Amino acid sequence: MENITTKMASLSIKKLPAEEEYPDLSKHNNYMAKVLTLDMYKKLQERATPNGFTIDGVIQTGVDNPGHPFIMTVGCVAGDEETYEVFKELLDPIIDDRHGGYKPTDKHKTDLNPDNLKGGDDLDPNYVLSSRVRTGRSIRGFCLPPHCTRGERRAVEKLSIEALSSLDGDLKGKYYALKNMTDEEQQQLIDDHFLFDKPVSPLLLSAGMARDWPDGRGIWHNDNKTFLVWVNEEDHLRVISMQMGGNMREVFTRFCTGLSKIESLFKQKNSAFMWNEHLGYVLTCPSNLGTGLRAGVHVKLPKLSKNEKFEEILTKLRVQKRGTGGVDTAAVGGIFDISNADRLGFSEVQLVQMVVDGVKLMVEMEKRLEKGDRIDDLMPAQK
Ligand code: ADP
Ligand code: MG
Repeated sequence: MENITTKMASLSIKKLPAEEEYPDLSKHNNYMAKVLTLDMYKKLQERATPNGFTIDGVIQTGVDNPGHPFIMTVGCVAGDEETYEVFKELLDPIIDDRHGGYKPTDKHKTDLNPDNLKGGDDLDPNYVLSSRVRTGRSIRGFCLPPHCTRGERRAVEKLSIEALSSLDGDLKGKYYALKNMTDEEQQQLIDDHFLFDKPVSPLLLSAGMARDWPDGRGIWHNDNKTFLVWVNEEDHLRVISMQMGGNMREVFTRFCTGLSKIESLFKQKNSAFMWNEHLGYVLTCPSNLGTGLRAGVHVKLPKLSKNEKFEEILTKLRVQKRGTGGVDTAAVGGIFDISNADRLGFSEVQLVQMVVDGVKLMVEMEKRLEKGDRIDDLMPAQK
């Protein structure tokens, strides 16, 4: 990596002394608030990335959102690729903490070969309603959604439309700009779980990611909506493979094929994805670094989720739960979104494997509980 000074601009905006600018974090419970100190702020206040992103831009979302009802949030975002280097004193310990002991010297491994996945084609569809794998990708040379200009955002959109239009076969599809959709069309896509929510999440709003909405945002998908790309939501690109039922293997295989095609199409347009050996794929939220991958299923677990061991089981299997309406929703009727908790330090294949094995075990436990049987002997060891 280049020397930090080559990535840093000095900041000439007039500010009051750090003591007077420092946010009140006394009621906060996010990773940023755990790490940031006045001394650190004092030092970082003097810096900016070459694109002019500052420490206040990095932490704003975490200042405005002391906590979240369902997940422990990171509380900061990157505004450009250089953010992770320029503000490393803050971001390295957050990344370490959020990703379970990931050190600044650690190297990330990528494995997008679906042949390395064991099984995954036989999750019981009576319980597993749908399967999905998503990741994010950022296009080098453009600021990230918290800090990009309108023009940059439109340029990312234009580039994406051009690149994606070359996909063919099963992956052939079309781009739908948000601003050309009716409210009803948009709501239908959201309700069917294909499209990102309207910018209602305070996490997104405070991070500056909803500026100019819906300008430059949209969704590209193939004809049967099994391969989708979100443009300019939280990341430049979110690449998604999904289908009904429990064949995660098929979903992951399509994900890998589509993703590698997309990467080469962007390369043909002289655009590379942000990536480095240490952080893997560089994305807006530090929680998504590395693989950026979230493999998940919507799964019926009405009995297991009421069991006193449920939380412990999730932790041990290294998976997390969400509601089926997305990260900001609670589960309804015992149906959960169960996905890998990690992004960094494990390869894509390893993460999907954890979800496949974990969900299989949880479904087995659910069946036992239905019959009134015990599940003690099925309790997993810490992965
Ligand atoms: P992401 O991490 O991809 O941003 P969110 O939790 O914000 O995920 O959800 C985004 C959308 O994707 C929501 O509409 C959600 O219902 C849908 N979704 C997530 N996982 C699945 C799944 N396994 N099956 C169907 N839809 C899903
Ligand atoms: Mg989301």
